[in-house]
Amino acid sequence: KLYNEVQDLKGNIRVYCRVRPFLSGQSQNHTTVEFIGDDGELIISNPLKQGKESRKLFKFNKVFGQATSQEEVFMDTRPLIRSVLDGYNVCIFAYGQTGSGKTYTMSGPSLSSKSDWGVNYRALHDLFHISQSRRNSIIYEVGVQMVEIYNEQVRDLLSSNGPQKRLGIWNTTQPNGLAVPDASMHSVNSMKDVLELMNTGLMNRATSATALNERSSRSHSVLSIHVRGTEVKTNSLLRGCLHLVDLAGSERVDRSEATGDRLKEAQHINKSLSALGDVIFALAQKSPHVPYRNSKLTQLLQSSLGGQAKTLMFVQLNPDVASYSETISTLKFAERVS
Ligand code: ADP
Ligand code: MG
Repeated sequence: KLYNEVQDLKGNIRVYCRVRPFLSGQSQNHTTVEFIGDDGELIISNPLKQGKESRKLFKFNKVFGQATSQEEVFMDTRPLIRSVLDGYNVCIFAYGQTGSGKTYTMSGPSLSSKSDWGVNYRALHDLFHISQSRRNSIIYEVGVQMVEIYNEQVRDLLSSNGPQKRLGIWNTTQPNGLAVPDASMHSVNSMKDVLELMNTGLMNRATSATALNERSSRSHSVLSIHVRGTEVKTNSLLRGCLHLVDLAGSERVDRSEATGDRLKEAQHINKSLSALGDVIFALAQKSPHVPYRNSKLTQLLQSSLGGQAKTLMFVQLNPDVASYSETISTLKFAERVS
């Protein structure tokens, strides 16, 4: 039933909004989230400004309030994961300013407790579970890649030689012409394999952190899960791919303050996020020209954006009034692509 719901989607693009809770020390009185409706309505206002003109209404496929658990969020994501095993390509993003909960949604705050698991781990867990249940009719193999895009350079986070700088990002030597990042592919059979690999990935990411700023918020990380199914009776092959993307922070950098590396990073992030916005916008408009070539990110994800592919974007919000203007700019981005 859930599966049909997603198949019926207009244009195969969904946008979910998730509001993260206040962290200890933040005052609940200063929330910008005035109302969340069951049908995906969200009203944002600035509590420090009087008057109606500060109230703005936004509409999503779904809005998850502060109290929503990781499990509840996954309930609405799960149908997309299933469709990967049926041969679809799927791309799931988290978009928002640094500190808005992107990593929380995609990976979770920790791996030690399953209830904390974000979409990444739940997705893999589901993939293993479903493929087991189908094993009499289809034999699945699952391969995982993890790359980071920083300043328009793609690095393999699962390389055994530490994080590698790579020039090419994809090869199209796959039989079905699917582009695959030119990064090491690791076959996984269980959550234990996955958790081990992710630790490598996280360590490789950490070693590249600069002293000045937390690198992870300045780069996009892309976990790609490739699924290959062989039908037992007919021996026919099916392939699906799931890209799970924790995007770089969308906050605008003050031009007067940013110089050197910081400015360069900001420009790259800006460019790639707007390229992503342009691609999704073009797809939503059913435009004949989709500008995939404008960034490494959109080139890398091309096979799972558009065509038969399904896309889900989590728009992450920090409800604090101090984030009001970033919240509005995040919502404007979302408005354009939904
Ligand atoms: P981002 O990746 O966008 O920079 P994080 O995912 O690191 O943001 O979240 C920032 C902080 O808020 C972290 O301490 C995280 O644990 C917390 N947080 C985010 N979302 C939630 C949530 N839904 N429930 C509880 N804590 C959250
Ligand atoms: Mg993060």
